[in-house]
Amino acid sequence: MDVTEKLGFDPALCFINGEWVAPENDDSLELEDPSTGTPIAEIARGTAGDIDAAADAAHAALEGIWGRTTALERGRILARIGQLVLDNVDLLAELEAADVGKPLTQARNDAVALARYMEFYGGAADKVHGETIPYLDGYTVYTLREPHGVTGHIVPWNYPMQIIGRSVGAALAMGNAAVLKPAEEACLTALAFAQIAHEAGLPSGALNVVPGLGGEAGAALTDHPGVNHISFTGSVGVGTLVQAAAARNVVPVTLELGGKSPQIVFKDADIDRALPFLVNAGIQNAGQTCSAASRILVHRSIYVEMLDRMAECYRALQVGPAGSDLDVGPLISARQKEIVDGFLDLAAEDNLTIAARGELVEGAPAGGHYVEPTLIAGVSHDHRLAQDEIFGPVQVVIPFDTDEEAVSIANGTDYGLVAGIWTADGARQMRMARALRSGQVFINNYGAGGGVELPFGGVGKSGHGREKGFEALYGFSVLKTVAASHG
Ligand code: NAD
Repeated sequence: MDVTEKLGFDPALCFINGEWVAPENDDSLELEDPSTGTPIAEIARGTAGDIDAAADAAHAALEGIWGRTTALERGRILARIGQLVLDNVDLLAELEAADVGKPLTQARNDAVALARYMEFYGGAADKVHGETIPYLDGYTVYTLREPHGVTGHIVPWNYPMQIIGRSVGAALAMGNAAVLKPAEEACLTALAFAQIAHEAGLPSGALNVVPGLGGEAGAALTDHPGVNHISFTGSVGVGTLVQAAAARNVVPVTLELGGKSPQIVFKDADIDRALPFLVNAGIQNAGQTCSAASRILVHRSIYVEMLDRMAECYRALQVGPAGSDLDVGPLISARQKEIVDGFLDLAAEDNLTIAARGELVEGAPAGGHYVEPTLIAGVSHDHRLAQDEIFGPVQVVIPFDTDEEAVSIANGTDYGLVAGIWTADGARQMRMARALRSGQVFINNYGAGGGVELPFGGVGKSGHGREKGFEALYGFSVLKTVAASHG
């Protein structure tokens, strides 16, 4: 049975005001399975009219039942959504594997993370308080945290469930009503999530989903005068357009953009412990991860040993279809493969050293968008492979001599999303954590298991604003100051 037949609704529809509705222009887009290159479903090609309808439904929800739902009850609804997500983990994992090409175990982890976001934000919904402020005699002053109103969420294809969890979960917890535009390359789990949230008792209009192209449904959402906050996760180029649109409407915007994140291995590092973190952070989701550690900086005294050991890991990596649940699946699309192959061609032209490659398994479908993971040595810090976000399973290894040089290389890109450091020296850990220009720094680990509790976001061209943790709840709410004079 085709996985989309298990959905229980037609994926070629939009979810607006608690109902499945055809897009205004009755048009559709084709979704393909990246493991085979064959079509798996038709999805709606939503346009401005559908975004209007979704924004109207969201405003009506705020005026109606959803707007009157207490923080306690919002939390309970989110907790129920989390439970229903857990009940449907296998289906969600299968959908994501077919749609994104993600190996099943990784897809399953994303579904569990989606549930965890609902649990976390469900539990937090009634724990965000205002303050009282000591002021002039005869006044009582306090602050209220209120929802922005209608929040727009634009999500990419690489981690649909995790990104929906962290942004829509926090927005709903604070009482906003959401309009979600998933990516045109992968949106089945966004649609399944809408159905699950509805079944869990989320009032109609509190969450609306309009699939479609970025330049059509996405642009209509960011331009919409009735949208009061925009959360965008995606590329720097589109993020710039989104921020300009938000500026025209004078609404706040959170931008979660790309990265070129380093992990720095000092000579006193525990190499055995570091090794799996170094490699996994480059090849997870076939390297299509904003926080991928695509640069490994290694102290020159252990450079040869590290490179050899990483190369050994790379040679053992197996690449193949998502359903086979290997180390690495396909890239999302032929276009993405072309981009990554372009970087590998550049490495060949510039005579960079290919230290090792993983292996495509026999029998992998010819139409799948596979790239063998590639470890590259001898890359100078200013080379494009060490500067540009590749968004594929490619890591470069760069030697350094001093701590100062490590910081200068690590900070020497346009990005600043995540950094990892490996050293036993406590003082160096503290110095580095301060010196690195990055939204998150991990010491003797990388990613800390993804922690929904940990605020996440970038500096520089990695974006601004923070999602995840309590910080997101502040971002998805606005502070009102009330000053009462009572003589
Ligand atoms: P993208 O910017 O092309 O698309 C992202 C989303 O924006 C999609 O839903 C798309 O339809 C929409 N979009 C496209 N054009 C639009 C427009 N003109 N107006 C409004 N919306 C529009 O990005 P992508 O290639 O799909 O994703 C890869 C990028 O996302 C990478 O750079 C990656 O680093 C970044 N990313 C960042 C994070 C993070 O949390 N920092 C997480 C995942 C991905």
